[in-house]
Amino acid sequence: MFTDVIALTMAIGDKRLAEKILEIMNFEEVEEGDLIEAMRMKPSELRRILYIMQEENLAIRTKIDIDREEGIRKVYWKLNGKEFSKYVAKRLREAIDDLSRYLQKQNGTEFYVCASDPSHRRITLDEMMKIISSEKGAVCDVCGAMLVPVDKERVKRTVDGYIRILKEALEIFEGRFKSHGGTSF
Ligand SMILES: [Zn+2]
Repeated sequence: MFTDVIALTMAIGDKRLAEKILEIMNFEEVEEGDLIEAMRMKPSELRRILYIMQEENLAIRTKIDIDREEGIRKVYWKLNGKEFSKYVAKRLREAIDDLSRYLQKQNGTEFYVCASDPSHRRITLDEMMKIISSEKGAVCDVCGAMLVPVDKERVKRTVDGYIRILKEALEIFEGRFKSHGGTSF
């Protein structure tokens, strides 16, 4: 159950919605119209989410019934539970890769940020040199504080910490996946 919520939340970016989908679909075949009604969502919005889940192989369109006389088209969906752990592991691996790449980039580049709030401004050393040679001076556009070099060691320690946590999480998910053949825990 825990993995299910994590997997769907990672895919659609909304935990409450993920929980609701899990509760209603419950790994049974569900007709799209019934699902729209139960979720109380706009059909277009629900379909957008179903397609995201389908794209990630977390939901499968099981069948389409067409009643030509009535002109009704019924689409059926089912959650693809055996893929959930794999999907979480994949996303964790991607996050680890992204952070590792970020760290490598940090190693090569010198950045300067606003001394009072780093989110104000972030520039490279090259840009810093240009600013110094201009009349404006090396200050933050937003608050006027000085621009200072980023403390790379501190950033590296923080990101290293995140990578370690993600790797531990990945180990757990991969372990679960191997020992339970992909079922949820
Ligand atoms: Zn500032």
